[in-house]
Amino acid sequence: MRPYTVTKINDDTWQIAEVYHSPAALPMYLIVGKEKAALIDTGTGMDNLRETVEEITDLPVTVFNTHSHLDHAAGNHRFDRVYMNCLEEAAARVKDGFAEEARREFVELKCMYDPEAEEIRNFALEHMLEYDPEYDIFYIEDGEEIDLGGITLTALNVPGHTFGSMVYLDRKNRNAFCGDAVNPRSSIGMFPGSPTVEIYAHSLRRLLALTPDIERYFVGHRLYSFSTQDVEDVLACAEEILAGNTGEPYPMIVSRKGPIWGRIHWHNGKRITFNENMIRKTEN
Ligand SMILES: [Zn+2]
Repeated sequence: MRPYTVTKINDDTWQIAEVYHSPAALPMYLIVGKEKAALIDTGTGMDNLRETVEEITDLPVTVFNTHSHLDHAAGNHRFDRVYMNCLEEAAARVKDGFAEEARREFVELKCMYDPEAEEIRNFALEHMLEYDPEYDIFYIEDGEEIDLGGITLTALNVPGHTFGSMVYLDRKNRNAFCGDAVNPRSSIGMFPGSPTVEIYAHSLRRLLALTPDIERYFVGHRLYSFSTQDVEDVLACAEEILAGNTGEPYPMIVSRKGPIWGRIHWHNGKRITFNENMIRKTEN
């Protein structure tokens, strides 16, 4: 088996997803221009993603990470050229953080409640590839354009989930690829030194202001896209937290050592989990 599903979205765009269980998954996106292709994220590295990509295109493929968490960037070293925001590089170099064991545990925990996911879990336990952090990392900055030939992607920095989180816009097809910068359960302020909910709200306001032409915001960890209204709902959720809504207790990170507790607040089906000490760090 291959642990990926491949779905053609339009003539230029494929979704390649590592599917752990329904509805959780890690979608990656391949955008194929006339001269080059861009692969947005590389998953947990549970198999040779490059082979799957090369079945779709024989053009040179460059990786653009949305951020450097282990479920988005652990397949990076299989590709020749990798870009991410410079604020993400340090995390991508930490071999321990990407150890096969850590990534197997991640998939096991995701599959825990779904008996139908047993096959994928067993595959991941057996096939998780070694992560070699010594590959070249190139930097991509806010506002930079990526010319693929006939399609240009625009990179936007959307701090919130991490400081270096990037969203990639394909204005030709009216798509945005958001990683965890926008997802149905945005996780903000997981660690000290992370962006606050206030920074995240600012980022979403700016994203919406810069993307009036975008129709689909492909989110992290789900195989569907958000509309502009859905992104506005996430922003409203953040604004309610800033206005003093403290939500309910919620296990923000689950591991074998036990959960790390935070809070969760809902708005119109969208959720933000947050650390109550990381709502606002500015004085105003
Ligand atoms: Zn993440």
